[in-house]
Formats: sequence, C-alpha cells, structure tokens
Amino acid sequence: MPTSSGRKPRTSSRRAPARVSARTAREPPAPEQSPVPGVVAEPPPRPDKVPFDIDEVLSRIRETVRGFADAAMFALAARGHDSLFEQLVACILSIRTLDEVSLPVSLALLGRASTPEAMAALTPEEIDALIRPVTFHEPKARQLHAIAVRTRDEYGGKLPCDAQVLQSFKGVGPKCAHLALGIACGHEAISVDIHVHRVTNRWGYVRARTPEATLAALETQLPRPYWVELNRLLVPFGKHVCTGTRPRCSMCPVLQYCRQVGVTQVR
Ligand code: SF4
Repeated sequence: MPTSSGRKPRTSSRRAPARVSARTAREPPAPEQSPVPGVVAEPPPRPDKVPFDIDEVLSRIRETVRGFADAAMFALAARGHDSLFEQLVACILSIRTLDEVSLPVSLALLGRASTPEAMAALTPEEIDALIRPVTFHEPKARQLHAIAVRTRDEYGGKLPCDAQVLQSFKGVGPKCAHLALGIACGHEAISVDIHVHRVTNRWGYVRARTPEATLAALETQLPRPYWVELNRLLVPFGKHVCTGTRPRCSMCPVLQYCRQVGVTQVR
C-alpha cells in the first residue's frame, strides 16, 4: 500500500518478480462501509501481492501502452490541436463517446473552425451537422457555440488557463477542465475519467466510490509529476488491459502489485 505521499522507497529491482497467476485472482470480500462519505474501507491484506510501488507500476504501464493509440485529446495535441479552446472542445465531444468516434469528429470540426472566432461564426445547427456522430450532439453543439461566443466576447478570443473559468461553462466539469489545462497550459491537474477511477480503485491505491472522491484521494497521494500523465496512461490501459468487465489480469504487467479490488472474473 502506498504511503501518505504515494511514494515508496524502491525495495526491488525493475525486473518483475515471478508472476502471480491470474488464477490466484480471487474476489475480495465486499468493501466495508467507511465512516468517511465516498470512501471505501481498506481491503483485506493479500499475501500473494508485493507492496504497491506507484513509480514501478506506472513505468510498466508506460511500456505496455506504447503500442496502443493515444487517448483522443493527446492524439489531437500531437496533431497540432493543442490550444486550450481546441482541447476543451475535444473533451466536450468525447463525453460519453468512444475515442474512435470523437477523434475524427473533433478533427472535422476543428478543421472547419479551430478558433473561438471561427466557431462563433457558425450557427449551432452548422456545428451540430459536423458533430452528429457523437452522443448528445445537439446540446453539445449549443454548448460549443456558447463557449466560442463567450470566449470571443469576454476573453478577447483566448481562453484563460483558469479552471474556474472553464468550469463556469455549461457542460464542463473537473474532468474536462483539468485535462485541457494539463495538456494545453501545462498545469499539474489530475483528470479522473471512468478508466482512471476504475483502475486506481482496483489497484487498491485509492478507495473511493465516485470519480470525485477518487480525484480527491489522488490529489493527496499521487506524486505531482504523474498528475497529467496518469490519464494518458490509464485511458488506453483501461480500454485494452484493465477493462470494465473481465480485465486481462493474466497479461497484466502490474498483477503482482494490484489488489484486484472488486474483480470477480478475469481473462
Ligand atoms: S488488469 Fe486491472 S485488475 Fe487485473 S491485475 Fe491488472 S490492473 Fe489489476
């Protein structure tokens, strides 16, 4: 388990000790209620596991996800769409939408209008026609148009790197604000989406019932150099390895560190 700082002194070499078989994965007892709202009680000890080492775990996952596609917003930044406005637009489009859908839609929209001025010049109906494949495209089109107009009129066409300003826009929560600020402004901010929430709780690194509680826990113990990278690593890891149902524990590079909290069936 991590210390309060989230760091543990290195006690083992980077080479993995003998793998724990996925078949040893067993369902932990149901989480016990904690007196702290939103926090799950400590899971029981697992003698088949080694102490959690966040540096080593993330190092292994960094290697594992090298062969997977980047999450949509990082992929867009790599293609030059790295302004705060573009990143915010892309994050709104990605809400409840697969990256495989939101990425080409983001490219199409930003190819037509990559600045607040250009997007404000479109009508919500024109934006809607460009983003139709994503979920909730109609309200998202109205939100994007409103953000573009406000950015043009209130901020001189350039969004400030300010989480409060971003979250004052309809449809923008901490997940999008933090990730956009991390990528576009270099802010140290943790973005907790469903993958980050699921994986960090399965590890037993945090014990939280909601993404909001996971964010609060990570902010107290995850070393700051990982705050932006965590999302970039765990989105593809969560899509391809630590999947929502039947995670691929048998091929997981961090099996020996992971408490597999709540995992009942593995591949
Ligand atoms: S796939 Fe997920 S649950 Fe399974 S060992 Fe890896 S991190 Fe843990």
